Amino acid sequence: MKELSHDRDCGQSCCLRVEKLSVKIGNDEILKNAELHVHCGELAALIGPNGAGKSTLLKAILGQRDYTGVIAFSQPGQRSKKPRIGYVPQSPSFDPSEPISVADLFACCMSRRPAFLGLSKSMRQTVKTCLQRVHGEDLIDKRVGTLSGGELQRVLLALALEPIPNILILDEPLSGVDVEGMNALMDMLDEIRKTYDLSILMTTHDFSMLPRYADQVALIDHTVVCKGTPQEVLSSEAFRRTFHMQGGSL
Ligand code: ADP
Ligand code: MG
Repeated sequence: MKELSHDRDCGQSCCLRVEKLSVKIGNDEILKNAELHVHCGELAALIGPNGAGKSTLLKAILGQRDYTGVIAFSQPGQRSKKPRIGYVPQSPSFDPSEPISVADLFACCMSRRPAFLGLSKSMRQTVKTCLQRVHGEDLIDKRVGTLSGGELQRVLLALALEPIPNILILDEPLSGVDVEGMNALMDMLDEIRKTYDLSILMTTHDFSMLPRYADQVALIDHTVVCKGTPQEVLSSEAFRRTFHMQGGSL
């Protein structure tokens, strides 16, 4: 694995460490000896071809895949505490004809009260507060199936931020979002990580936003092939090889 300038010593700050991570599904080795180190407050982006193992790496961190190796989260002074992880899955689709509203979706996820009983006043206030974090209060009564790609991502993000996690994981949040929506979503993620001092780990195929928003980029192809600053990875030989590009810059 080619390691570029990013790997600084953590010192007293908190971090997520992935070491010698291997994942097998059946006889297929999906990931082998993957290494990643994400510091608190950082945005790390995973890039790589389809089928490279990006989602598998996220699922291993989420505890949804068996693995060998180490996935460790350290917070100084809180040794035994498990990190809270917020997760925005890869664009789930909702039927536009379904009458479920954003408020109903929150109620299903956050309350034991059946949705047909409607939302209690206090629950509606909680949902509003959650949506305010993503500037989405006006979405509360919209049907989930009619939301634009960017609106749906904001709603899913609001769900993932309750309670505020230590690490926020997003699987391809920019797919299905138009260019304007992409910039708005990335600005929002930037604001959220600074406000709540959380780490963000996301996968993306959109390389153009990396230099502006990502602190670290890891190129995945069944392992971490290369990691470093966006500039380092995007100009690396490994990047060109992986995406079958000719010489020269992007
Ligand atoms: P990426 O997110 O980079 O596109 P994935 O992590 O989804 O890649 O998948 C990596 C490889 O693992 C693919 O070849 C995929 O077919 C395989 N894979 C992922 N999940 C499963 C599964 N549940 N069962 C069998 N193979 C899987
Ligand atoms: Mg994927």
